[in-house]
Amino acid sequence: MKYRQLGNTPLRLSVIGFGASPLGDVFGRTDPTEGIATVHYAVDRGINFFDVSPYYGSTVAEARLGDALAGRRGEVLLATKCGRYGLAEFDFSADGIVGRFEQSLRRLRTDYVDLLQVHDVEFGSVKQIVEETLPAMRRLQREGKARYLGITGYSLKTLLEIASQSSVNSILTYCRYNLMVADIDDVLIPFAKQHGVGVINASALHMGLLTTSGAPGWHPAPKEVVDAGRKVVALCAAEGIDAPRLALRFCLDHPDITSTLIGMSTRQQVEANLNALSLANDRGVLEKIRGIVAPVHNYIWPSGREENYG
Ligand code: NAD
Repeated sequence: MKYRQLGNTPLRLSVIGFGASPLGDVFGRTDPTEGIATVHYAVDRGINFFDVSPYYGSTVAEARLGDALAGRRGEVLLATKCGRYGLAEFDFSADGIVGRFEQSLRRLRTDYVDLLQVHDVEFGSVKQIVEETLPAMRRLQREGKARYLGITGYSLKTLLEIASQSSVNSILTYCRYNLMVADIDDVLIPFAKQHGVGVINASALHMGLLTTSGAPGWHPAPKEVVDAGRKVVALCAAEGIDAPRLALRFCLDHPDITSTLIGMSTRQQVEANLNALSLANDRGVLEKIRGIVAPVHNYIWPSGREENYG
C-alpha cells in the first residue's frame, strides 16, 4: 500500500480508502458478518483510511463500521460526516451538528474521529456553513473530538466558495474525477495545492456505474452517461481487463489526490481493488475508453440548491 499526506495535516492516508457506504446497504443488501470481516481484511492489507456518514443506511453503516473497528480503532484514520442525515434530511445548525455528532461517536464506539466533514455542502447555505456549521465543528475540534475538519459534496463551485472563506483541512468530492469525468483538475486541484488542503476523491466507479452490475436505480446520471459506462465495462471485458480495477488505477495515478475512496463490503472486492495497485496502465485501452466517453465526458448533473449548482 502507498500512503499520501492529507494537505498540511500530518495524517498519512492509504491511497485506496475504504468507502463504508455499502456497509449501510446503500448498493443493495450486504452481509453484516462479511462486512466486519471485510473491514478487518482491509486493515490487515494496509488500508488505513475509512470514510462513513450517519446518512449511509440511516446510521447502519456507522454502526456496522463501529462494530468492525472495536479493538482496532487505533490502526485506522476514521472520517465521518455531519449535516446530512437522510435523502432530504439536513441540519447544518450548530446544535444539530454537536448533538448528532455525539451519536455518531457512540455508534462508531470511539471518543474522537480523525476527520469530521460537512456532508454535501450544496444542500445547505454557504453563509450558514461558514458562519455556523464550521465554527461548531471547530469547537468539537478544540474539545479533542475531531482532529481535523473537512467539507464534502458534488458541487465544486460550492466547495470552493466555502474553502475560500473558511480554512478547512480537506475537500472530498465525488464523481468529479474518474474515467467519466475529470473537472476536478480545472480549479479545485490548483486551489488545494496552493492552500495546503487535502483532496479526497470518492466514487472511482462513478457510484457503481463502472461495474458489471451497473448503476443502482437511484443513480442521478442520465441514460447517455449510464450507456457510455456500460460500453466501457463491455470494452474492458473484451480486452480481458477488470473494469473496476482499471477505473481505480486511473484515479490512483492522479498525483494530487491524497486518497481515492471506493465502496466495499466484501473481502473479494478488497482483494480486487488492491490488485489495482499493481496494474500496468494500458494506454491503448485508455485511449479507446476516452473515445467512448467523449460525448458525455464531464457531464454534471444538478445537485442540491439551485444557487449551488456547478
Ligand atoms: P463507488 O464508485 O465506489 O461504487 C461502489 C459500488 O461499487 C458498490 O456497489 C461496490 O460494491 C462496488 N464495487 C467496489 N469495488 C468493486 C469491484 N472491485 N468490483 C465490482 N464492484 C465493486 O461509489 P461510492 O461507494 O458511492 O463511493 C465510495 C465512497 O466514497 C462511499 O462509500 C463514501 O464513503 C464516499 N462518498 C462520499 C460522498 C460524500 O461525502 N458526499 C459521496 C459519494 C461517496
